Amino acid sequence: MNKNQDIRCSVKNCIYYKDNYCTAERIQVDNQYGSLSNTSDETICVTFRPKDDR
Ligand code: SF4
Repeated sequence: MNKNQDIRCSVKNCIYYKDNYCTAERIQVDNQYGSLSNTSDETICVTFRPKDDR
């Protein structure tokens, strides 16, 4: 898989993670709590899949 040079990430247990980059062709980021987020802590990458989720 090629690194997406526009998306850096440090979630090492995601199947798309590689060397501090995301390899997904595209990702989806949502508000974590349903309403509008006020900080980055309130957002979530919903494309995340744990490496053992197969
Ligand atoms: S899918 Fe999300 S959590 Fe997984 S490597 Fe890409 S940006 Fe990080």
